[in-house]
Amino acid sequence: MKQQRSGSIIVLLVIGAILSILVYLYNSPMFERTPPEISLEETIHWNLKEPISLHVKDQSGVKFVRVTLNDGTNSVVLHTQMYASPEKELSLEVTFPRTGFFSKQEQMTLEVEAIDASKWNFFSGNEVKKTALLHIDTTRPELFVLTNSYKITKGGSAAVVFRANDANMKELYIQTNDGHRFYPTPFYKEGYYISLVAWPRREENFHADIVAQDKAGNLSRERVRFFLQNRKYRVSSIALTERFLGGKVTELAQMYSREYESMSSIERFMFVNKTLRKENDEKISHVATQAPQALLGEAKLIPFYPLRNGAAVASFGDHRKYTYEGQVVSESYHLGLDLASTAHAEIVSSNAGKVVFAQETGIYGRTIILDHGLGLYTLYSHCSSLLVQTGDTVKAGDVIGKTGVTGFAFGDHLHFGVLVQGVEVRPEEWMDKSWMEDNLYSIMRNAQALIERQ
Ligand SMILES: [Zn+2]
Repeated sequence: MKQQRSGSIIVLLVIGAILSILVYLYNSPMFERTPPEISLEETIHWNLKEPISLHVKDQSGVKFVRVTLNDGTNSVVLHTQMYASPEKELSLEVTFPRTGFFSKQEQMTLEVEAIDASKWNFFSGNEVKKTALLHIDTTRPELFVLTNSYKITKGGSAAVVFRANDANMKELYIQTNDGHRFYPTPFYKEGYYISLVAWPRREENFHADIVAQDKAGNLSRERVRFFLQNRKYRVSSIALTERFLGGKVTELAQMYSREYESMSSIERFMFVNKTLRKENDEKISHVATQAPQALLGEAKLIPFYPLRNGAAVASFGDHRKYTYEGQVVSESYHLGLDLASTAHAEIVSSNAGKVVFAQETGIYGRTIILDHGLGLYTLYSHCSSLLVQTGDTVKAGDVIGKTGVTGFAFGDHLHFGVLVQGVEVRPEEWMDKSWMEDNLYSIMRNAQALIERQ
């Protein structure tokens, strides 16, 4: 009786031990039950040239991967491997076979199978399968220039109308040599685009390529031919006197720098002319970058004439060098046209547009930026008062503000700027009727005539 009892206790102890081993194993990473995770997009546009990347992840390691390409009739294994030492993360690139597999199908599937190194499933591991649908596209986007400005001037702008076609277009832009991208606006009929481009004042050279890339990675590039017109800009030297450093410089440093107290007068000038100017220019450039995606029927732009009887007091592009005790200590480029008439004169928007910016901005003082579509923006600085707010729509001829001396200005005037997708360009061009005829109206008119004939 006593012996029977101790026998049952042993059996119970053994069962208990087996159970805890099972529970332990069930919860141990060696027996994890999560299949590998395969990262692969559900649909892929493929040009049969670029490798397809995929990633496989598993906590106990990946011990087997097989990738199979199937065109509906035939299939070919692109990759198969048993991994002697399983890896927790695996990256693979598979390519279309160079020989032995031919297909004219426009759709195929890519199947990825993976097994992990877990001891689960009687030591065979957890298995998973993932399939991607492949859209085969080996055709490059079609690009064709219809019309463009005959020339572009250093610091100025130009226009181009072109045709771009691809069933799976991913990206379309014009890239210039300085790396800037100009995004086109759909023009007149589907498949046609118009874009303004800009040759930045500080770049010695210029070229522009239309770049089109489809979802399968097929790329087309087309150079737009312009006659390059160099232009000499004024270089001037300004001696920094204590008097000059005392007024506006002190005022702006005090407004925008916390370390104002500890700065010398020349440090305050450096802060205003360099740090603050850079910050303000970046802000302006950022606000003025969008190009509309809506189809453009016609651009009803007329030459800008922002200030009645305004006399030019400083030109676009002036290179200013500042000297202090005989040394050049700082420089700047004047990227607008300064116009002056009477104090607090009315500023007019010659064209309709949307107010995208209206606020006090460092060296530019009270500033308004208008978006006129086509990636074209105008800027009005040093205002004494702003009569519009961000989000307002203005009509051609509306008074938007009054001239003044806010910001880094030494006399009541308007600093008028024109930007093409973030790049400051010569406002003189956009104020000149014959320039606009040659570079916008005729470009659009001739392009429309060509489109009608196609
Ligand atoms: Zn100015």
